[in-house]
Amino acid sequence: MPRLSHSAVAKYLDCGQAYKLQYIERYREKTTTSALLFGSAIDAAFNALLIDLQKGVLKDALTYKEAFDKAWTYGEINRKKVYLPDTAIMGYAATDFDHDILHEDDVKFLGAKAQELVPTDFTELGLEGVIKKCAEYKKQKAHGRAFKDSENRFLNLANWCSLRRKGHLMVEQYFIDILPKIKRVVDVQVKIETDNEQGDSAIGFIDAILEWEDGTIFPIDHKTSARDYEADSVRTSQQLAFYGEMTGYEKAAFIVFYKGVVKNRTKICSVCKYDGSGARHKTCSSEVSGKRCGGEWVEVLKPSIRTQVIIDKVTQMSRDNIMNTFDQVNTAVRAQIFPHNYNSCVKPYGRCAFFNICHEGKYDDVEKT
Ligand code: SF4
Ligand SMILES: [Zn+2]
Repeated sequence: MPRLSHSAVAKYLDCGQAYKLQYIERYREKTTTSALLFGSAIDAAFNALLIDLQKGVLKDALTYKEAFDKAWTYGEINRKKVYLPDTAIMGYAATDFDHDILHEDDVKFLGAKAQELVPTDFTELGLEGVIKKCAEYKKQKAHGRAFKDSENRFLNLANWCSLRRKGHLMVEQYFIDILPKIKRVVDVQVKIETDNEQGDSAIGFIDAILEWEDGTIFPIDHKTSARDYEADSVRTSQQLAFYGEMTGYEKAAFIVFYKGVVKNRTKICSVCKYDGSGARHKTCSSEVSGKRCGGEWVEVLKPSIRTQVIIDKVTQMSRDNIMNTFDQVNTAVRAQIFPHNYNSCVKPYGRCAFFNICHEGKYDDVEKT
C-alpha cells in the first residue's frame, strides 16, 4: 500500500518518473543545496524554541542560535552525517553570501583559512581584503569561473559563515516579530496520518499549531526564502490545505523569513553629527554657514531579517482537492503509472536531479539511499 507524504505527492504531480526514481528506486542526487539544509537547521532552532515556550521554560536567543549551529554544523545528506562548513557536496546560491553581516570572528577565521587554501590570491590582503575577495569570488562564480578544489572549499566556508549569521539573525527576529504574537503553543512537530478505503495513507509533519494573539488557532509552517511569497500563498498551498483538513482548523499560516538581510545602515557625520543615512555622498554633505562640512561618516550596520506572517482561510474546495489528489496519486502509484513529464526537466533554478538518467542514460551523479 502506498504511503505518501505531501512532498511525495507534489513530486509525482511534477513528474511521475521523478517520483519513481526518488521514492521507489531510492535514487538521490549526490549533492544537495544549501537551501534544504539551512531550512532544516532553522526548523531545528524554531522547534526547540516553541517546545520550550510550550513548557514555559523559554530561554534567551543564544540557546536557539546554538540549536541552529548544531544542525548547521553536522547535517544529513542522503542519510549520512556530513560536516557542513567546507563540504563539497552542498551547493550554495549566489545570494547566500553577504560580507556585510560577517562578524570579526568570521573574518579572522576566513583570513586564516584563506592563507591555507588560496595563498596566491590573498597574500597581504588583510582582513578587509579577504572580505572583498569573497565578494569578488562570488561574482566570478556566478559568471562561470572554474575553481580549484581548495578555492571551492574556501568559498564554501565563506558561504557557510554568512548563512550561519543569517540563521542567528532569524532566531533574533523570531523573538522580535513572532513571539509577541503567539498566545499559546498548542503543539509542536505534529505527525498527521490518514488512510483511505483502499488502505493507502497520506502522512505529514506540521511544524506547529499555534494560538495567535487574536485567539484563533491554526497550523503553521516555517519557511526561509530568497523570493517573496504571494499574498494568496496560503490559499493556494496544497501543503496547508492538507494540514488544514487533517487538523480541522479553519485557517493556516506560513511564517516566512527572508534570506536577503536588511542592512539598516546609518551614517552619522563624525564632525557635525549630521545624520546622512541613505545619502550617497562620500563625506558629510551638511552645509554649515554656506560651506559643505565634509566630515567623515561613521557607518553603523544593524542587520535584521524581514519576516512575513500570512494567515488565511483554507477553503473547503482546496481541502477536497488535496484529498482527491492524494487518492489519485495513490491509485496511480499502485497501478505503477509513472509518466515522464519532459516539461519539468529544466527549472528556473536548475535541472531536475535525474536529468542525466532520463536524457543520457547516465547514473553517475546519483546514489541509492
Ligand atoms: S529529467 Fe525530466 S522526465 Fe526525467 S525525472 Fe526529471 S523531470 Fe522527469
Ligand atoms: Zn558634518
